[in-house]
Amino acid sequence: MSTETLAIKITKTKESRINEVDFNNIPFGKVFSDHMFTMDYKDGEWSNPEILPFGKMLFSPAMSSIHYGQSIFEGMKAFRKDGEVYTFRAKDNFARLNRSADRMCMPNIPNELVMNGLKELLRTDKEWIPENETNSLYIRPFMFATDEYVGIRPSETYKFMIFCCPVGNYYSEPLKVKIETHFTRAANGGVGEAKAAGNYASSLYPAKLANEQGYHQLLWTDSKEHKYIEESGTMNVLFVINNTLITPSLSGTILPGITRNSVLTIAKDWGYNVEERQITVTEVIEAIKNGTLTEAFGAGTAATIAQIQTIGLDGMDYELPEIKGREFSNRVLKFLNNIKRGQETDKWGWIDTV
Ligand SMILES: *Cc1c(COP(=O)(O)O)cnc(C)c1O
Repeated sequence: MSTETLAIKITKTKESRINEVDFNNIPFGKVFSDHMFTMDYKDGEWSNPEILPFGKMLFSPAMSSIHYGQSIFEGMKAFRKDGEVYTFRAKDNFARLNRSADRMCMPNIPNELVMNGLKELLRTDKEWIPENETNSLYIRPFMFATDEYVGIRPSETYKFMIFCCPVGNYYSEPLKVKIETHFTRAANGGVGEAKAAGNYASSLYPAKLANEQGYHQLLWTDSKEHKYIEESGTMNVLFVINNTLITPSLSGTILPGITRNSVLTIAKDWGYNVEERQITVTEVIEAIKNGTLTEAFGAGTAATIAQIQTIGLDGMDYELPEIKGREFSNRVLKFLNNIKRGQETDKWGWIDTV
């Protein structure tokens, strides 16, 4: 039997936790649906695909991912409308997981195998996506090294898992971000374009310093000169300057966001001028000062679009135009929310029905 057609063993929970959840008031990332998907890699192939109740697991203290960080993840969402469950660009997320895996010396997963696992999990936990306009199910696929070995080499065994978190309307207040000109998220030749766990650990300290100064998040710059804008937290960043949508090009140090790509694709389709290029800190600050910058926002799966209200640089805060009047980002957010629930024509093949 080929891996693509491996049968998934399903063990359902005896007691669903769904009635304990207040779906009108869910903290992001702290509530988990009833089941999870797991699968093991050893002897050069994936085996044991299984759906089982979400719960604790046993690992060796010498498990190599804990010590040396071979650990990667993804983030995406499922939506429900009129009884149907939809995923948005799941294939693209799993393609990116495989690219992250290549960079971290980890095995790839065949698309059909992983999509089958995801769909079966979503069918099992379908009731965790309430039928309304504001709720969705955040999906967290991840892979980590499981060799019981304290020595630095690529692990020979891995675990792949998916669990899900019901989430409400992700409201983020307009962001106050600080342009970081000392610390670095990712350097040329590093792992910035992989969704690798360690990237986030190393960003915590500079982000903490910015929080203490009253900023929500950092706006990272290039590691060499701190002159070019890169991205923010777990979001890519986009600007509208002189009626042109501008975002830093994917240089190897920026995570190739799927929301970023969706926004650019839609903007081009709508006839907007779109530029993917290097953008300097000076250009952004000048454009705020002379009024040609009309919008700035982050793009990522959790919030979809997160508006930026204030940009800080070297102790100075620059205020951006009010959110209400931001024509492009408000329009693209509405369009994305609709397409994800099957309410717009899926002309790019982004939607899968579960
Ligand atoms: C996940 C992530 C993004 C956004 O990617 P999406 O696919 O749009 O969710 C952007 N930057 C970083 C560093 C990320 O980890």
